[in-house]
Amino acid sequence: MNRYEVIVIGGGPAGLTAGLYASRAGLKTLLFERGMFGGQIVNARQVDNYPGFPDGISGLDLASLMHRQATKYGLETITAEVTVVKHGHIYNIITTEGNFEAEAMIIAAGSEYRKLDVPGEEKFLSRGVSYCATCDAFFFRGVDVAVVGGGDTAITDALELSEHASKVYVVHRRDQLRAGHVLQKLALAHPKLKPIWDTVVDEVNGDSKVSGLKLRNVKTGEISDLKVAGVFVAIGLEPNSQRFAGIVELDKTGLIKTNEFMATSAPGIFAAGDIRQNSPRQVTSAVGDGATAALSAFKYLRERS
Ligand code: NAP
Repeated sequence: MNRYEVIVIGGGPAGLTAGLYASRAGLKTLLFERGMFGGQIVNARQVDNYPGFPDGISGLDLASLMHRQATKYGLETITAEVTVVKHGHIYNIITTEGNFEAEAMIIAAGSEYRKLDVPGEEKFLSRGVSYCATCDAFFFRGVDVAVVGGGDTAITDALELSEHASKVYVVHRRDQLRAGHVLQKLALAHPKLKPIWDTVVDEVNGDSKVSGLKLRNVKTGEISDLKVAGVFVAIGLEPNSQRFAGIVELDKTGLIKTNEFMATSAPGIFAAGDIRQNSPRQVTSAVGDGATAALSAFKYLRERS
């Protein structure tokens, strides 16, 4: 049987740091990642608030450096999707690449883009519907686009899109942005950005690709059509935690409850990064969580033996 002292689920900054700390502490450690190492940061064109890089660094480069460092001390990694985790003294972890056993587990599976769940959103995915401005803004040169959301991501995306598109509508369900003060000021003063307040998207329309949005004002109920060639959905993230429900306690939004040691409700299971309740959702905090979780796993294994 493939048995490890620590199994880390997720290869973003939290998981890679947990893997680095656990393997460097001499624990037999395995990390599963289903996609690209680095998690959400691989989509960031520039990360300016990660200490040690005063001139900023691209998300992809930061992810690659983190992966290189994490695997330097014997951390094993497998690209596979974890499908089931079974309870017990030892945790059984069933993946698309086989079955594994863990004495301790660190869940750092992050989150994924929240969907609008409206007609046309899925149909026009990659044909005008996008969740990543850094990846796709370039394709919308000289046309009008919309960003949905009022948080930091929506405004960062809108500002990035303004470098390419002719006009960027920011469709927000309230009349006040959630984004931080600096971003708000930049957005509201920007000549190409046009907020559409108190409004939600009811439908994404088009033929072979997006040609417009059906909007609804939530205060007046008024329906309108907005002609755009693209829509960037930036309404937050959903934690990838459903497969752990029943094993660890989740809050009502699906985030894993932890204490300050990153311990969950299940002995020997720790959680780190965006997937845990009250995470500030920053790369720096994810890295801190990963280190804390690995140190806690180490202590748990030593006290148990
Ligand atoms: P967020 O802060 O959760 O904001 C989500 C936005 O989408 C909110 O404005 C919310 O509206 C709206 N929204 C949520 N569900 C919606 C729905 N079903 N329909 C329409 N609108 C909906 O998410 P985020 O902007 O992705 O940011 C996530 C975290 O990353 C935050 O902590 C943020 O500070 C951080 N971040 C930081 C930076 C940076 O440059 N410092 C950049 C990106 C992200 P309400 O406002 O009405 O709730």
